Amino acid sequence: MSLMTSAEIYRHAEEGRYAVPGFDSYCLEVVQAQLRAANAEAAPFLLQVTPKGLRHIGMPYFAALARVVVEESRVPLGLHLDHGTTLEEIVSSIRHGFSSVMIDGSMLGFEANVALSRKVVEIAHAVGVSVEAELGRVLGKESDVEVRSGEETMTDPQAAERFVLETGIDSLAVSVGNVHGFRRGQAAIDFQRLEAIHRAVPVPLVLHGGSGLGAEALERVRQLGVRKVNIGTAIKRAFTESLRRSCRDNPTEIDPRRVLGPAREAVVEELKAVIRMLGAAGRSWLGAGAA
Ligand SMILES: [Zn+2]
Repeated sequence: MSLMTSAEIYRHAEEGRYAVPGFDSYCLEVVQAQLRAANAEAAPFLLQVTPKGLRHIGMPYFAALARVVVEESRVPLGLHLDHGTTLEEIVSSIRHGFSSVMIDGSMLGFEANVALSRKVVEIAHAVGVSVEAELGRVLGKESDVEVRSGEETMTDPQAAERFVLETGIDSLAVSVGNVHGFRRGQAAIDFQRLEAIHRAVPVPLVLHGGSGLGAEALERVRQLGVRKVNIGTAIKRAFTESLRRSCRDNPTEIDPRRVLGPAREAVVEELKAVIRMLGAAGRSWLGAGAA
């Protein structure tokens, strides 16, 4: 069985001091690309989707697709809701077989964020599902959450310690200079702050906006307790730039497969590179044929 909770996957990542990629999903070809890259690199990963992604794909289609991915996977994986903001979204994803959920209450005040996150922990833990929550506000736009420039706030280490104790969450998404929507090498991480949070907090840390980080930053964050890095922008960019190139180079092409195939391949190559940068290549602990 390759489907696991994110807590199980992070436990292994903690032992090996690497980070697993959390890949966001936009369409069939992107989901296929995630599995191809993870199988090729023998890397554990989280198959993720946001509520916005689910509105595009449709939950019944996504859930069916995810079942196929679990069957076809030769590596451990979690099925994760990224940036859930309501109890309805959380319960719906759990009912459709997700093994991990994020409740994003980062737009709320501290106490309201604690109350919402704790409620989700009660619901999810009752059925063996892991919970990620966020403290601090990450600049940029992802799914239904948008933080404009000047509204972002860094995660405070002492508040983070209290937040984790009071909510009982399994992993904490932090804001330490990471940004949603940036390209590789554009984000500047406050490593001192990350280290202070890592010391104060007993659970694995999650970094959103991973596409904006270069190889050197990714190497450092996994020495500081980051066990998952979310990848969205790099996927969108690889896919859409390939589509644009195909359409420009072949203006008379009308077969969707002739433009979607190369786009899927471009995402596979991008994700293989990400997996290696996170130190996740070759970390699958399922033997050949065990899936
Ligand atoms: Zn995010």
